[in-house]
Amino acid sequence: MDNPPPERPAPASRPRDVRATAAGDRCRGCGKLQVRMETTGMGRVVEVPAPCRCAFWRRVNCICRVCDHAVVGKPRVALYCAEHRAAARAASVARHRAKVGEKHQRAYYARNADRKRAQARAYYQSSAERRARKNAGKAEWRRRNPDKVRAQKARYELRHWKEDDSYMARYRAEVAAGERTPAPLPRNDRGERTCLRCPTPLAGRAKICAACRRGDT
Ligand SMILES: [Zn+2]
Ligand SMILES: [Zn+2]
Ligand SMILES: [Zn+2]
Repeated sequence: MDNPPPERPAPASRPRDVRATAAGDRCRGCGKLQVRMETTGMGRVVEVPAPCRCAFWRRVNCICRVCDHAVVGKPRVALYCAEHRAAARAASVARHRAKVGEKHQRAYYARNADRKRAQARAYYQSSAERRARKNAGKAEWRRRNPDKVRAQKARYELRHWKEDDSYMARYRAEVAAGERTPAPLPRNDRGERTCLRCPTPLAGRAKICAACRRGDT
């Protein structure tokens, strides 16, 4: 919008704005007469200028349409003073957000997830107080969700059990060194080893039965 088309000169019979209208003309915006008839003390009827002050009049006179301050921006185009321009812009952004929701912000976050996570980490790690508050929140979450913590640890172990310093590696080393005895596997009344999750008797090295492995139970 830096390069508007050159202004066309308005024809003399149709003045461009209220300021230029002669007595008796109407506002080009709202159509109101720009004069009022009044009777003087001497009994003579005279035309008194009465500009309409409508939105059009405000715009062509560069007055904010909310308050009486001068507009900022292009004369005869801009609608608001600096303060009300910011307010109108904020309202427009809020209307847009209400219409499209947060999908654009979410998509932006998804595209830049690593960088945004690093930013968030740097933010809370830059203050000992913020960091303590965050850690307290995490500890509280772990206290309230022991089953989720257990599942997280199990998933972690499934990814890392081959590593030398994993829990399973340490466990196997301790059992081999005789420092630790594995918990006995469950058995039924007849002495048969059973599935860890149901009473099905098992043979071989399996620890859970085929049905439990499939997730049928
Ligand atoms: Zn008007
Ligand atoms: Zn204003
Ligand atoms: Zn089973």
